[in-house]
Amino acid sequence: MSWTYACPKCKALLNPNEAVVLVAQRGDDRMLIGFHPDPGNYEIFVPPGVPIEEGSRWEFSCPVCRADLAMEDSPNLCALEMLTGSETALIMFSRIAGEKATFVLAQRSVQAQFGNAAEIYLNSLINKKYIM
Ligand SMILES: [Zn+2]
Repeated sequence: MSWTYACPKCKALLNPNEAVVLVAQRGDDRMLIGFHPDPGNYEIFVPPGVPIEEGSRWEFSCPVCRADLAMEDSPNLCALEMLTGSETALIMFSRIAGEKATFVLAQRSVQAQFGNAAEIYLNSLINKKYIM
């Protein structure tokens, strides 16, 4: 299945090629990071020589409008829109390096869940009414 990813604020297309490209920042390190477009595939494309420390928390923002992609009420998660055909979904993923937690939500139900850390967030997403 081929997904298109978009910024929830400005709707810019974020995977014009293969990877989903976001601005990543941590302290003084600021760069573009590419994510594999298949949800649940945690391969990332980083500039050479950049150490991504396990457990470090990164800020992700839209490369077009610079909107912070972190969820206001779930600060360890980021959210993007996902579109395929006429369907729109919301993808949420952990912004902690090495923490595998991804949700694909549509109509407030979980379409898919990936990663061994997803369970950590599931109850909180239910409590916050992202999931009914
Ligand atoms: Zn944007």
